[in-house]
Amino acid sequence: MPGDAYLALVERLGREFARRRMDKHLTQLRWAWPQLTRWREDEVIEWLRVFRVPPFDKDYPLQRTAGGCPRCGKHEGVWTRLVFPGGAKLTCASCRQAWVVERAL
Ligand SMILES: [Zn+2]
Repeated sequence: MPGDAYLALVERLGREFARRRMDKHLTQLRWAWPQLTRWREDEVIEWLRVFRVPPFDKDYPLQRTAGGCPRCGKHEGVWTRLVFPGGAKLTCASCRQAWVVERAL
């Protein structure tokens, strides 16, 4: 990904952290600026996918209340992969679907 496009994504992630009052993450992101040594590109994109910031807004299905896997419906074997204020990213061990549970902001 070209440098300018990547920096634009980092800026969007910073705005999203600020909007969600994730101060620790925002500070970490700012301290990494401009070298961005601590935040790999795949980490930045993963957060944008979790927050469903376009063009990554279709990558993970969204649930408003915790239920089973949105693909196969199983409840067992569901793992929490990442948490943030008001939500989490989950994965299903059976079908490997990943999704986000988040209450409405
Ligand atoms: Zn599943």
